[in-house]
Amino acid sequence: MKVIIIGNGVAGTFSAQNIRALDKEAIIEIYSLENYPYYTRIKLPELISKQATTEDLIVFNEDWYKNKNIKVYLGKKINRINIKHEHIFIEGENEPVSYDKLIFATGSMPNIPSIKNVVEMKGKGVFTLRNMDNGLEIQKYIEKKDVKKGIIIGGGLLGLELAKQIKNCDIETTVVEFFPRLLPRQLDLDCGNMLKDVIEDMGIKVVLSAATEEILGDDKVKGIKLKDDREFEADIVLIQAGIRSTIDLAKQSNLETNRGIIVNQFLETSKKDIYAVGDCIEYKGQTWGIIPACIEQSKIIASSVLGKKHIEYAGTIPKNTLKIVGIDLTSVGIFDSEDTEQVGAGWEIMKAIDKKRNCYKKIVLKDKILKGAILFGYKKAFSYVNKNIESEVNEQEIRKILELFIWECSNCGKEYDEAKMDVLFNYLPEDWKCPECKGPKEGFKKRINFF
Ligand SMILES: Cc1cc2nc3c(=O)[nH]c(=O)nc-3n(C[C@H](O)[C@H](O)[C@H](O)COP(=O)(O)OP(=O)(O)OC[C@H]3O[C@@H](n4cnc5c(N)ncnc54)[C@H](O)[C@@H]3O)c2cc1C
Repeated sequence: MKVIIIGNGVAGTFSAQNIRALDKEAIIEIYSLENYPYYTRIKLPELISKQATTEDLIVFNEDWYKNKNIKVYLGKKINRINIKHEHIFIEGENEPVSYDKLIFATGSMPNIPSIKNVVEMKGKGVFTLRNMDNGLEIQKYIEKKDVKKGIIIGGGLLGLELAKQIKNCDIETTVVEFFPRLLPRQLDLDCGNMLKDVIEDMGIKVVLSAATEEILGDDKVKGIKLKDDREFEADIVLIQAGIRSTIDLAKQSNLETNRGIIVNQFLETSKKDIYAVGDCIEYKGQTWGIIPACIEQSKIIASSVLGKKHIEYAGTIPKNTLKIVGIDLTSVGIFDSEDTEQVGAGWEIMKAIDKKRNCYKKIVLKDKILKGAILFGYKKAFSYVNKNIESEVNEQEIRKILELFIWECSNCGKEYDEAKMDVLFNYLPEDWKCPECKGPKEGFKKRINFF
């Protein structure tokens, strides 16, 4: 059997590896538009600030492919598929390549919001960061053009990670975000505000509720103008405003597509013997765009392609960690019960804000099942949350791990539950009184029977 994979990112590479693990005989060929063997995109921002080199990013060198008996063809764009004859066509080459099973692992591309002058200014100071070549191009531009001021459009994870690396290049850095908070897809307002303070303390300016209307400049970028007419100067503008699945080839081949290539629980597309995996897929109306989803899907696709359809994909719980030195922030699953369609009884939120220590802990439970969490400045609980997500958890255990105490008035028994209040007990003013019996703060004792 001959399996062809289009795309050499994490989804394509891990699918190849998993197929090989199950079948030593299959012919596996990967075709990739890019000129590098499999590398991680996570460290791309570090390439710009020269904290990492291209070699540092490469995960599997060419020997890895040889040892696994996987053929990889770099710098090859697949531009047409003949489904009837089971052929793919490589741009600039006449001979078709045949397949028995075809996997789309075409990934995604940066989303470019409709901003006046954005297309015209691409490469003249306006860039996006998705691949190694983009990173090198930005690095060179900064060096050659003596860039002093930079703007990042998009205050999501990638936007902030990029902002930090731009700042590391001694560039005055501003992040503009359309939503009224940073990381709108991962954080609630309270935590978004805390993060903003920490980012600003790093010397990065943050402008929220900022809709960019126009890129200013002709032969080179001069700045941006917002819809409210505010203008900001810049020598470089980097757009990190979400991603779009790469579906053009699939669409042109008449595969069913929407935001992504539509797949079923076995990652089969609407056409026989054609599968899809990674950022390019849409399953039950959802797309992902994170590495854990690619890795999970790559195991399922390997079985499906080999006709062993015993594992079904059930979606991947979103897990995101901000990778900026000095900030510990992770957001897993549902972080706001109001965001779900299942609002109603059974939801419980436990949270604590410690502004003095820049620490925020929030746990979302539904009928005692751990549905999500935000942990900021509190690394201790990361592994507990990751291990127990979607499992039934014990409230006492959570209180212990998150250090959320119940204080009790020794006079009247009134409870002060830190998981439900905005202020931690120790931070209440010394003249604070029991709301029930008006007894003094010192009269409260920590209830520790759950330890
Ligand atoms: C800067 C950055 C940082 C990130 N950090 C994180 C992180 O910390 N954690 C996390 O979980 N995720 C992170 N991500 C997202 C993560 O990298 C993606 O989810 C992942 O790379 C998707 O893998 P993929 O294999 O589906 O697609 P891709 O990595 O996009 O690979 C698809 C490949 O297919 C090729 N291709 C497309 N069309 C064709 C064609 N017609 N012919 C030949 N080749 C084609 C593309 O050129 C590309 O090389 C980050 C992304 C970026 C850009």
